[in-house]
This record gives sequence, structure tokens and C-alpha cells, in this order.
Amino acid sequence: MIQRKTESANSEVIDAISSFLASPPEGTPAEIIEAFDTLGTKEILPPKLFLETVEQAPVAISITDPSAKILYVNYAFEQLTGFERDEIVGKNQSVLSCNSTPLSVYQDLWRSIQNRHMWQGNIVNHRKDQQEYLAELIVSPVLNAEGQIIYYLGMHRDITELQQQLSDISKKT
Ligand code: FAD
Repeated sequence: MIQRKTESANSEVIDAISSFLASPPEGTPAEIIEAFDTLGTKEILPPKLFLETVEQAPVAISITDPSAKILYVNYAFEQLTGFERDEIVGKNQSVLSCNSTPLSVYQDLWRSIQNRHMWQGNIVNHRKDQQEYLAELIVSPVLNAEGQIIYYLGMHRDITELQQQLSDISKKT
């Protein structure tokens, strides 16, 4: 299953880049090779390995543009939210938002990330089937060489059960 998802995540493009780098056609300008090389060859892990690692990470990962439009989600994100990547890519992250989370939490999130800081907190999300879950969310900006925000990275996990266990423990003590 993971393998199938990996394949559907642009791995054809990554394969093409990897084989291009393995034997660039004669006469290819050095700048072109260098540009692709920075995507990962010798010192840096190959892009395919990066993708497979992110794909198989046991935490829901999304990459968005600066307006929070989703560009990529990993397999754990699909499993947790119930959204297939084909139906969620292109939508805003707010597709997961729930009225249970106070507006001030989102305002705090955006203030932090727009100031190039990482934000971490708990919010209530809902899955595709509308079932709610408590998410421990980390959002961090991805900057280019000029220090501009080009993407946001989101990572979250379901802590509903953990929260319930903590509350049960505190009731007993
Ligand atoms: P809105 O009324 O759209 O937003 C609430 C407030 O958030 C606004 O009043 C404003 O202060 C601020 N805000 C919203 N969008 C912007 C913007 N583009 N620029 C500046 N300020 C803004 N939300 C979730 O609920 N669940 C998630 O798992 C989640 N993951 C995220 C992951 C990433 C990488 C990013 C960048 C954002 C994520 N968000 C997530 C936040 C999400 O984008 C929305 O801001 C949030 O869901 C509130 O949306 P809303 O439609 O309910 O409210």
C-alpha cells in the first residue's frame, strides 16, 4: 500500500531526475547538472529516499503554499484524516478546521508562522467523515535563500486517546 502511494507521489519525476544525474547526456551544461545535483546525489540523500522517508513517516505531514493551500500530504495524513491526496491537494488546510477550536488559537498560529517562527499547539480537527479528533500540531515555515517564506510544513498526530488517559489519571489522583 505504502509502495503504491509512493509511486503516485510524483516518483516518476524523481526517478527521471535520478537517472539523469546518474549519466547526464554529453554536452549538458554544468549549471544544469549542478542545479539538479543540489536536489540530492552524493553528500545529500537522493530525492527518492527523502520522499519515501516522508511518505512512511508515522506522523501526518502536509506541505502548503504561504496561503495554506495544500501541495502535498503523506500516507499517514491520508490515513488519519480519511482524505485521499487527490481530493485534498489544492484545498486549504482549513478543510480540517472545527468550530471547537477558538479563533485566538488560529490567530496565534498565523502570527507565529508569518514571523518565521515554528508554532506548536493542540487543535480540534475533523476527518472527512466529520468525526472530531484532538490534534497535536506543529507548523513551521520553509524559507528560501532570501529568507522569504515559500512553504509551510505541517505535522500532526491524533492525541485524543492520550488526552483521555491523562484526564483519567488526574481524576484518580
Ligand atoms: P479562518 O477564519 O479562515 O481563519 C481564522 C483566523 O486565522 C483568521 O481570522 C486569521 O487571523 C488567521 N488566518 C487564516 N488564514 C490566514 C492566512 N492565510 N494568512 C494570515 N492569517 C490567516 N488548521 C486546522 O484547523 N487544522 C490543521 O491541521 C491545520 N494545519 C495547518 C498546517 C499548515 C502547514 C498551515 C500553514 C496551516 C494549518 N492550519 C490548520 C490552519 C488553517 O490554514 C486555517 O488557518 C485554520 O484551519 C482556520 O481556518 P478557518 O476557515 O476555520 O478560519
